[in-house]
Amino acid sequence: MPLQRVCYDCDRTTTERRARCTCGEPLWLDTDPEGFEWSDVTDAPGLWRYEALLPVGMPTPGRLAAAAGGTPLLREPELDGFAGTKIHLKVEGQHPTGSFKDRGSAVALAAIDAGLEDESDHAIDAVGTVSHGNMAMSMAAYAASFGLPCVVLVPDDIPEERLGVIAQFEPEIRRVRGDYGRLYRDSLEAGAAHDIAFVNSDVPLRVAGQKTTALEICEAFAPTAPDAIVMPVSSGGHASGVWKALRELEAAGAIDDVPRLYFVQTAACAPIAEAFATGAETVSPIEGGGGETIAYSIANADPPSGNRVLRAARETDGAVIAVDDDEIREAQHELATEAGLTVEASSAVPLAGAQLLAEAGTLANDDDVAVITTGTGLKEAAGSATAEVVDSVDIDRLDAELSSFAE
Ligand SMILES: *Cc1c(COP(=O)(O)O)cnc(C)c1O
Ligand SMILES: [Zn+2]
Repeated sequence: MPLQRVCYDCDRTTTERRARCTCGEPLWLDTDPEGFEWSDVTDAPGLWRYEALLPVGMPTPGRLAAAAGGTPLLREPELDGFAGTKIHLKVEGQHPTGSFKDRGSAVALAAIDAGLEDESDHAIDAVGTVSHGNMAMSMAAYAASFGLPCVVLVPDDIPEERLGVIAQFEPEIRRVRGDYGRLYRDSLEAGAAHDIAFVNSDVPLRVAGQKTTALEICEAFAPTAPDAIVMPVSSGGHASGVWKALRELEAAGAIDDVPRLYFVQTAACAPIAEAFATGAETVSPIEGGGGETIAYSIANADPPSGNRVLRAARETDGAVIAVDDDEIREAQHELATEAGLTVEASSAVPLAGAQLLAEAGTLANDDDVAVITTGTGLKEAAGSATAEVVDSVDIDRLDAELSSFAE
């Protein structure tokens, strides 16, 4: 029988293989964190240390799944001056496919592979996802490792170079014409009818894996907790996982003070930040899909977990804000030149957000702030490259060239 799900909003539960409650809101797994203590954390690799809070243990052998989670949290005093608060960087770009999406892919596919989502006459025999970037790559890679057939639905206008990055793992790719938000919802329904598990960005099993980002952050600070966690948000799947982790740790008594959650969007496409600013109860999709932005990975005009993110921000005393492309470029440049860390534009968004929050006095200069840099910059050329380049240096003139550099 599939794992039990529960609605954060109306508390209804179900063991049907669904991602949405009958009320329309996203479901997540019904877990029982009571009794969890930090001493229950094992020495298994990566995120499997938190088996006590996961729906499934590490597969044996662990294969690629053993490389999910366990990313470093770096204290970066060099960035404090820029941000105006004490910065700790969670480096999610260290994952095999370069983003936190691997956490959700590893846990979801381990659970599916172990048969936890099978119904008596309906075993799941393939997986899929809807994505134009990091999640498609992550799902294709982990499906290859688990030996599960995988179908990836991408928007028809996806750039060729991004398609090539996904294609190397040989999933079946379908370029689909039509509205992206609708494709997200329809794939869940149509997949279920064909026993294909669509592990889209905010489905219960993906959220169960992605909550481990926050478990790792909190464990690093235990027995205290950071004052705040700042992260980029698009669909709201990762944010939902982070909120769920904090709720579980609080219920277990493993943290006393719940960190405030600050979610940052790109100004070109910020439906959740708009709802937060206007005090709305629910998020309205952006008509026409929003504008161009360098942070394309987080430009979701119709976020499936938007309402859940609004709730997470309000209940933890946090906020949802937006930053523009110039602010994002500046933060990306700062991360590279001060911390030596390459991140994609979407992952520079939370540092830019932390700076705005500190300027507004929302973050204090002695607050411990965990900034989640969600993905590596190695997949894209940095939009902020400013290094001095001298062309066509004659090898016979190397000595003279280096002597002028030394001055
Ligand atoms: C997917 C992604 C996000 C947004 O995560 P959501 O769960 O969709 O809100 C942020 N940054 C990067 C690098 C991503 O790949
Ligand atoms: Zn509900």
